[in-house]
Amino acid sequence: MGVSSLSLALALTAVIPTDGGAVPSASAGVSTADAIVAADPEFAAPTPIVGLSLEETRQQVAETEVALRVIVLQKQNDDRALAGAKRAVSELRDETLVIADNTVKSAIANYRQTDLDGGLFVSEDLNDGLRANTLGDAAIVADTRAFDDYRDKAKDLQLAEVNLSAEVDENDELSARVAALQEQLEQEQSWLAEIEERELQRAAQQYSATESRWAQARGNKQGFYLLTCPVDGEHEFIDSWGFPRSGGRQHKGVDMLADVGTPIVSPVDGQVEFRSNQVGGRSFHLTADNGNYFYGTHLSAYGDSEGRVRAGQIIGYVGEDGNAAGIPHLHFEIHPGGRGNPLNPFQDTAAVCDGAQY
Ligand SMILES: [Zn+2]
Repeated sequence: MGVSSLSLALALTAVIPTDGGAVPSASAGVSTADAIVAADPEFAAPTPIVGLSLEETRQQVAETEVALRVIVLQKQNDDRALAGAKRAVSELRDETLVIADNTVKSAIANYRQTDLDGGLFVSEDLNDGLRANTLGDAAIVADTRAFDDYRDKAKDLQLAEVNLSAEVDENDELSARVAALQEQLEQEQSWLAEIEERELQRAAQQYSATESRWAQARGNKQGFYLLTCPVDGEHEFIDSWGFPRSGGRQHKGVDMLADVGTPIVSPVDGQVEFRSNQVGGRSFHLTADNGNYFYGTHLSAYGDSEGRVRAGQIIGYVGEDGNAAGIPHLHFEIHPGGRGNPLNPFQDTAAVCDGAQY
């Protein structure tokens, strides 16, 4: 797991509620962004991906894409919280202004009333004087209440402004994370493109290398289907294509005479299978990468293992198994394009083997 995977895991655990409670959540008084920063101070630093394989790089890009989606989602949620905090501040400001306005108005009105009543206070009438005092007291109480309301509202506003400022900071932090991850993703994607390009070139080179091996084999010896001679040792053979065989059959291959135990090598790159049958005894079935099929039989023993083989790799040993009793040889067939389409293999074997007898 790279740095970005860790970040991703943290981002996910912060978003998805966990029952473990090990990761600090927003409800615990720590914001998600803070949790990420606290747990991974290198969050914004792009993961160095030079030296990763193509698959690893693809994986890395996919992880960064998911991490970016998660952080963008967080940012969207935080944008809503920020808008709410802004709305709260704006509403409280309006309310505070209205109260301040009313308080000033009522203070002016009360002052006028008190002044007016003050005029009455000089009256000879004791009752009038008492009433004026009471009105004055009521005006002071009303003023005090209005100012208390104003103070409370102003306090609410102040708290809302502090909250807004924190929200702005957190939102800025998230914006920075989004930008950093976007940049990281761009770098990783361009690196991936470079690796993919390199991989394509490598495949093309490999292809042309194989092609040139074929061309070399063809150019040097006029062989078309074989890269090397299937019998790796002294041998000889004639063109016996179509010669009559038991049961009215015709010969569909070439018989390469050699001592028992002479190595048989794969003449191409491909996949080999070992099977035995009643007529030929121990046999190999070889399918080249380009689809051509080869059959060899009468083996005394098989090669080390079935499956992938390269041209020149031992796949068996010459013998006299099956109906070849007494005459050790490799019966060899070439079926261009796949099994069921044999051609006379003499020319092609003669091109890459030195035992052809004309
Ligand atoms: Zn044969």
